[in-house]
Amino acid sequence: MIPQPSAMAMVPFVSVQDMMTLVNKIGIAQMIADIADEIEADYRRWPQFDKTPRVPAHSAEGVIELMPTSDGETYGFKYVNGHPANMARGFQTVTAFGVLARVDTGYPILLSEMTVLTALRTAATSVMAARHLAPKTARTMAMIGNGAQCEFQALGFQKVIGIDTVRLFDIDPAATAKAAKNLQGSGLTVVKCKTAEDAVTGADIITTCTADKQYATVLTDNMVGAGQHINAIGGDCPGKTELHRDILLRSDIFVEYPPQTRIEGEIQALDPDHPVTELWQVICGDAPGRTDSRQITLFDSVGFATEDFSALRYVHRQLRDNGTYQDLDMIADPDDPRDLFGMVRRAAPN
Ligand code: NAD
Repeated sequence: MIPQPSAMAMVPFVSVQDMMTLVNKIGIAQMIADIADEIEADYRRWPQFDKTPRVPAHSAEGVIELMPTSDGETYGFKYVNGHPANMARGFQTVTAFGVLARVDTGYPILLSEMTVLTALRTAATSVMAARHLAPKTARTMAMIGNGAQCEFQALGFQKVIGIDTVRLFDIDPAATAKAAKNLQGSGLTVVKCKTAEDAVTGADIITTCTADKQYATVLTDNMVGAGQHINAIGGDCPGKTELHRDILLRSDIFVEYPPQTRIEGEIQALDPDHPVTELWQVICGDAPGRTDSRQITLFDSVGFATEDFSALRYVHRQLRDNGTYQDLDMIADPDDPRDLFGMVRRAAPN
């Protein structure tokens, strides 16, 4: 008889379908808000985390990255890719999956899709940063780049920051039309704009989430005015940025983990010692965030491992009460731990 796997060997797997069920049960905006709180709680205990810039494998088409971290009790990593040319082939630009594991035994405790979860955690991180950096009176956001991340950002900013108007622009009008349609009924006033200049007019917050593997100039210096908050999420790889350098020189710049952002963020265009503020210090009250109404604040987002860790832990906690998942037989579990060979032999057909 083929031995059956024991409960210890089973690892919950959250598929894309399971994630969609969970997200629709909790609500997209609510889940972004919940994950923002989870990420912020982990930023408050930043020194406890094992941190390293993510490990990339670059190619002409894009990048594949591993993002590991640990808080000493739980280990997590995400596999993620970024392939801007994928969209034209009918594929996602960004896909991902992630794992949580126990530090004491090394055994995995969760395997989850993270393509949907990355969109939620990226929006959650953006609103967490904006909570500390954007003007408190902000009601209008420009959204430049209306691809896969766009609606998640818009709904997150509506829920957590109180944005009531989004001004959309994409070089592909079909993307703007898609986003506008998806945001119908959200309560947001949605304005479709013909140029990026038009989109930023009257905006308190500018979110850039374009995908292009080059030093792009999605925003020029004249497009950014006093008091605005810029949420720059699309520049997240060496050689892939969105903002003109002059904007950086006029802004107070906030980053996740400097050793990674210096390699991947907008600040790769600046001197390596150009001052930046670490977001966790603002959140802990150790460094100032927005200090006056004319200040330009820039969140130079690249996405950091602890944010995925926080999002995975949130999903893991939901499994008991809210989640649908499948148990995967992922860990070899012989009766005698040294008899791995015997376990394989006993499973052989006669
Ligand atoms: P996507 O390919 O689905 O959408 C990108 C959109 O940008 C497309 O609709 C495209 O037409 C548009 N675009 C390209 N160049 C433009 C320009 N110059 N002006 C206006 N629009 C332009 O990609 P996505 O999944 O929405 O991701 C967007 C970007 O965000 C990617 O670069 C991705 O790598 C990055 N990202 C960052 C994080 C983070 O944590 N910082 C997380 C996820 C994704």
